[in-house]
Amino acid sequence: MPGRVWTPGAREDDEVVLTGSNLPAVGEYNQTVVLDAIRRHPDGSTRSKLATATGLSSMTVANVCRRLLASGLIEEHGTRVSGPGKPPGILRLNPAGGFSIGVHIDPAVVTYVVVDLAGEVRDHTRSGTPSAQDPASVIDEMGRSINALIETSGVDRSRVLGIGIATPGPVNIADGIVLNPPMLPHWHRVPLRTALSAATGLPVLLEKDVTAAAVAELWYADAADSRDFAFMYYGTGLGTGIAVGGEVVRGVSSNAGDPGHMTVDPNGPECVCGRRGCVGYSTTPRALVERAQREGIVPGAAAGIPEVDAAFTALAALARAGDAAAYAVVADAARQLARAVVVLVNLLDIERVIFGGPFWSRIASIVLDVLPSVVRSDPALVPPHDVRFTESVIPVDVAAVGAATLVFDSTFSPRASTLLISAG
Ligand SMILES: [Zn+2]
Repeated sequence: MPGRVWTPGAREDDEVVLTGSNLPAVGEYNQTVVLDAIRRHPDGSTRSKLATATGLSSMTVANVCRRLLASGLIEEHGTRVSGPGKPPGILRLNPAGGFSIGVHIDPAVVTYVVVDLAGEVRDHTRSGTPSAQDPASVIDEMGRSINALIETSGVDRSRVLGIGIATPGPVNIADGIVLNPPMLPHWHRVPLRTALSAATGLPVLLEKDVTAAAVAELWYADAADSRDFAFMYYGTGLGTGIAVGGEVVRGVSSNAGDPGHMTVDPNGPECVCGRRGCVGYSTTPRALVERAQREGIVPGAAAGIPEVDAAFTALAALARAGDAAAYAVVADAARQLARAVVVLVNLLDIERVIFGGPFWSRIASIVLDVLPSVVRSDPALVPPHDVRFTESVIPVDVAAVGAATLVFDSTFSPRASTLLISAG
């Protein structure tokens, strides 16, 4: 991986004894475990606390910390007095130890963010979504935007670990190709990953936007947060990022997370699939705007994405201000959304439903006013436990920030599955 400042892979010989076999991946795994523990204690942690938290020997923790300090990923801050002997050093993440670029390709706009290792957005920029027919000029434009952002943000380019891209599906993750997303009519089999990597000299990861949002939610989660959730991503379309047992569910082709064709209103508008009242159409900003325009709540006729965006903003503002007809449009969508949520909760036995995405905040207060009680009182709801409804920890640009966390997640998230595969 070019541009990478820290390459794991050093052996952790003392751990070999514990496993009884010469696993080259153990050192790398322990390094991610310790870094993850440090990351989740922003006020700092001592080596002995890290040993307790990770279950690793103090020798292993000391060795790993020495390497992490040398690589600049963590820093030692002062000391903590706790009895006799040499006071223990306090270890904290070095936010500037690594950076990631997140890119979210939306039908209307491309958002770029620079995120540091502590998850702070250092800088961001936006540009209109390239609509050129030839992929080469699209890639060229995006490459220039990324290079310009790294430049203006002032971050150390040698510490940029990579670029994550979140895009509407369907995608071909293995080849890093955006297939033919219905919302992006000019994009057909764009080989985004390799081309963008060549244009920037950085490693590139590609993921469906809803999956990137779920990865971000896990990355930013507190230790106490549930790792079983559905992330209802409310954008131009509706998608669902899924995490079960702390792992994001990607599916065989990494295109999991499309609840769109669940019927939630048998008399609803006709979907592209030919059926009526699919949640992926009935609850979208465009469908709400179309109804509001038919009922004379907002003027005009829905046309392109910018017009829908503006009309949706006007509709949501009216609804929030107490206009009964406008409120009814949004509340009906919330009830339809609730039906889909019930199916998802039943299917996955999750305890948390998270809402976010580019269009979410405008209708958040109304949906959260209506939907929870509709879900809880639905006779179709199966799990006996309570379901919590929360908003994303990332209020703005969740897919772009999520795209950035893809890079951190793939580099720094401890995964036993990685260890097992590598051991073969
Ligand atoms: Zn449909």
